[in-house]
Amino acid sequence: MQTPHREDLGSEPGLILQHFNVSPEEYTVIFTSGCTAAIKLVAESFPWIPTSNDGPGSLFCYLTDNHTSVVGIRGLLSQLGVSVLPVNPKDVWYLEQDSQSMIKDEEDCRAPHLLCYPAQSNFSGTKYPLNYIHALQAQKLHPFNRTPGQWFTILDAASFVSCSHLDLRAYPADFVTISFYKIFGFPSGLGALLVHNDCGKILKKNYFGGGTAAAYLPKEDFFIPKPSLSDRFEDGTVSFLDIIALNHGFNSLEKLTGGMQNIQRHTFGLARYAYVILAALQHANGKPVVRIYSDTEFEDPSTQGAIINFNILDDNGNIIGYSQVDKLASLHNIHLRTGCFCNMGACQLHLGISNQGIKKNQQAGHICGDNIDIVDGQPTGSVRISFGYMSTFEDVQTFLKFIVESFAKSPIRVDEAILLTCSITGTDDETSGLASSFSCKVHVGTLPDTPRSRQRQTANSITGSHQNASYESTVTSWPVGPSGLKYDRSWMVVNLNGVCLSQKQEPQLCQIIPHINLRESTLTLRAPGMNAFTIPLDGISDVLGDEVFQSKVCGDRVKAQDCGDEVASWLSLFLGRQCRLLKQCRDFARSAWKTRQSASQPAHLSLANEAQYLLINRASVLHLQHEISKRNECTPGQTPSMEQLIARFRANFVIQGVEPFEEDKWTDVKIGETSFQVVGQCTRCQMICIDQSSGTKNQELLQSLSSCRDGKVKSFL
Ligand SMILES: *Cc1c(COP(=O)(O)O)cnc(C)c1O
Repeated sequence: MQTPHREDLGSEPGLILQHFNVSPEEYTVIFTSGCTAAIKLVAESFPWIPTSNDGPGSLFCYLTDNHTSVVGIRGLLSQLGVSVLPVNPKDVWYLEQDSQSMIKDEEDCRAPHLLCYPAQSNFSGTKYPLNYIHALQAQKLHPFNRTPGQWFTILDAASFVSCSHLDLRAYPADFVTISFYKIFGFPSGLGALLVHNDCGKILKKNYFGGGTAAAYLPKEDFFIPKPSLSDRFEDGTVSFLDIIALNHGFNSLEKLTGGMQNIQRHTFGLARYAYVILAALQHANGKPVVRIYSDTEFEDPSTQGAIINFNILDDNGNIIGYSQVDKLASLHNIHLRTGCFCNMGACQLHLGISNQGIKKNQQAGHICGDNIDIVDGQPTGSVRISFGYMSTFEDVQTFLKFIVESFAKSPIRVDEAILLTCSITGTDDETSGLASSFSCKVHVGTLPDTPRSRQRQTANSITGSHQNASYESTVTSWPVGPSGLKYDRSWMVVNLNGVCLSQKQEPQLCQIIPHINLRESTLTLRAPGMNAFTIPLDGISDVLGDEVFQSKVCGDRVKAQDCGDEVASWLSLFLGRQCRLLKQCRDFARSAWKTRQSASQPAHLSLANEAQYLLINRASVLHLQHEISKRNECTPGQTPSMEQLIARFRANFVIQGVEPFEEDKWTDVKIGETSFQVVGQCTRCQMICIDQSSGTKNQELLQSLSSCRDGKVKSFL
């Protein structure tokens, strides 16, 4: 047989481009052995500039919720001396003004940088905004555009394209990577790198395999690559029969389903239905059967794909290992994926496993893909179900029946509140098919950012006042506990899956004003239009027995106790979504990751983000206020008052009598008899953009802060 050549290929590359709504004038298809090989191809050909004495070089950024195949690029870069920055998905946001105009002095930096993010998480099905592509080009995507230079994107679309339409004309990512079996179920071992034609020329060809050279000499360093991009990068013979199969794949897909939009509606409808039932399912004693790991509540197919990731719980709330679930499922002819799904970052985030935990599990003999599903009572992975165009409603029923029969203690119960929030909207909206019949709002809970009080103390010449502007009461002193001011940030509001709600998702939380009465040992919650509600500060376990919940704060697993049905109803009524109030267990301590190197052991944290105390300086806030009014010149009256600004930072201590930003240089602070060590600056996020009296959001403050401060104020331990 003769070696076939690229020219022998028929219409397939054209069909692929058509599928993504672009033409050969806009994109080129390079066939690879899969998505992984496509990612590796970009990584190996990208014109990286190492950081050197001449200046900063390239930066490679990726979301921590990326596939192993992306994180692995790191392995190439450490040899090259190129910097790498993993970014937590929640730390990405849009800037209103482009960052280049802010970073003026480094304008001439043209180093090429690369961002890789998944269009859809293969762990949770979360869809990340395709708009990141535009924002990155417009220099408006935090934190990437803080680094000046030329930014390129790899959109890892492998998971996304299986059930969603990717319109590359609307979202022109520079590089797009896919595997075809994820679309058609066949052929494995064939994928593609789609390259935007504007970017083709930046890719450097180092290795030259068969078919890629226009001319070369075996005895001299002479190599001229083929002019066409696809010829240049397809080393060796491509998988011809598989490529021909694509033709039939696209045809059948169109014939059977009528296109990707229909597939998305169908699969999302199935996933939402399964999600609602799983979330509502309870053991005879009322405890949940399933813990779902998701970032959304399956309400919108543009932010959630047809993937559900979860673990099964027994009626004591203990996790049943994924491998046991998998074994039982295969007895029922149900195929599940289990483990960490080549996505350690998402696994850590959702299951709350620390870096140390992963290393410990590895030492305990656990390797990716094995059956060691529980180490020290904690899961090493989870179970994932995903739907494709061929999945049917009966499949979902079969699966749910399997879960109920195998794991739920009968008589089973369902959480009526969850099912009730599913309004059955019927068939008036023909187009949305199954999805519309389960238009469900399964809401999970957030955090009234716990009690703060006012106090006035003097330290050296500093006036310290720990305050929250929304507080009416003032106290002159406050006890200090092992993890900060006593009772500070000890409570959180969580959704029904135990996910902590913050003001980012639920700005209404800031309208809930907690008040602590130390003498009576009570916590009273007040909110507009609601009667005040009081619960005991410490006596909760007497009311509830010792039920312990696991929840997550900033990716850390925390142990907390539920504060009971009554306060849960009160909060659910006010917030208009089902939620619960949890209190951190007294015997449970989180470690602060921001710890001084000299400290012998990490400090303990309450449910606060990263440090026990947060201090701000009035003079610095005043400076910021000037900055805002300067930026607001055309709209006077828009600048928040000092008290409003101070409230936004939600600090424990507010000091005055020193110069603006003098606190940056401090290493220690003494207030009364108590000494505090400075652990570092607190990087602020969109939380400060929420007006604490109305709950409305506005990006302005963060913009001003980043223009004068790089987004940081001080935090203390
Ligand atoms: C499946 C997948 C990959 C890897 O694809 P291969 O076919 O194994 O090369 C990469 N990223 C995501 C998001 C995936 O879903």
